[in-house]
Amino acid sequence: MNKTTGLYIHVPFCKSKCPYCDFYSVRYDKKRAMEYAKKVIDNIRFYEGIKFDTVYFGGGTPILLADEICEILTAIKPFITDNGEITLEANPCVTDNYNICSLKSAGVNRISFGIQSGVDSELKALGRLHNSKQAEKAVNIAFDNGIKNISGDIMIGLPNQTKESLSYTLDYMTDLPLTHISSYILKLEPDTYFGKNPPTLPDDDIVTDFYLHVSDCLYKKGFSHYEISNYSKPGYESKHNLKYWHCEEYIGIGPAAHSYYNGKRFFCDRDLDDFISSPLQKTIITDDSPGGFDEWVMLRLRLKEGIDFLAAENNFGIDKEFFIKRLKKIPGELYCLTDNNLSLTEKGILVSNAVIGILTDI
Ligand code: SF4
Repeated sequence: MNKTTGLYIHVPFCKSKCPYCDFYSVRYDKKRAMEYAKKVIDNIRFYEGIKFDTVYFGGGTPILLADEICEILTAIKPFITDNGEITLEANPCVTDNYNICSLKSAGVNRISFGIQSGVDSELKALGRLHNSKQAEKAVNIAFDNGIKNISGDIMIGLPNQTKESLSYTLDYMTDLPLTHISSYILKLEPDTYFGKNPPTLPDDDIVTDFYLHVSDCLYKKGFSHYEISNYSKPGYESKHNLKYWHCEEYIGIGPAAHSYYNGKRFFCDRDLDDFISSPLQKTIITDDSPGGFDEWVMLRLRLKEGIDFLAAENNFGIDKEFFIKRLKKIPGELYCLTDNNLSLTEKGILVSNAVIGILTDI
């Protein structure tokens, strides 16, 4: 039987660089985009015999390469399982009826829009090229073209963001036909424009309050908080991203793409020219034997389903009593304990690193 795994394709092109972003991307150029797409196909063909049940085009701004992505999907169709989840990240300012229609025909069945905020002044402060009307239109174009699984990103801790403006954004987002929302806290990464020219941001206590406000509001609107940063309507969890948190394998193609395959973690360097000029992408191994207890606990506690005691015993020989002993050092409001599982509460998620430290202190 064919091995089934996930496929991540990093599309390293953007129209311009957002001041907070440290994802690898270069300015869009049609010729290089075509060369890049050809090389992506060559690299995927190398994995002949594998079936992908999830495919995720991340970036960068994948929708800029709609034609090339249609070519890639046509070429790798035999590698994708029936009903495979095929996600594409999209920027609202380059979404139109033509590219969505083509991508849908090529097999894309899930779109993740970088919406970030429903407030135009906040979008401007983030250097985004779209406004709230364009984001609304983009989501509706996808929905009207039959793509019913749509995610939107929201950012908290923005310059001049208030609880009122965040509430406005949450109402705006939940009025759209979204089945999934990812919520991220703005971080100042050192090698970005914001890292070197830091704007004034709300302090940590305010951001904590914002985080709880997002969870509370989305819960009331029927979204389940299934992972630290992710909320979904029932049945619309990201199948691809769940592979990361379940420690399942995936193959990453493209500069800056990471993989976990055949028991090894490896990545391709952040170098588009090298990717295009190499017959197959060069990879660097980061870990020969991943998947230890600490990593497993850390990933499981990101998820609402939490730690399954039977799985801990089967995989690591660590029984429920081990956890019960350590929980004595942790305030009860931070976790939820059942006969079979241990998970974090909303408050626990906020201090998850400290909780994980106590639970993995063998
Ligand atoms: S945030 Fe998205 S659109 Fe902006 S530079 Fe980064 S990858 Fe490109």
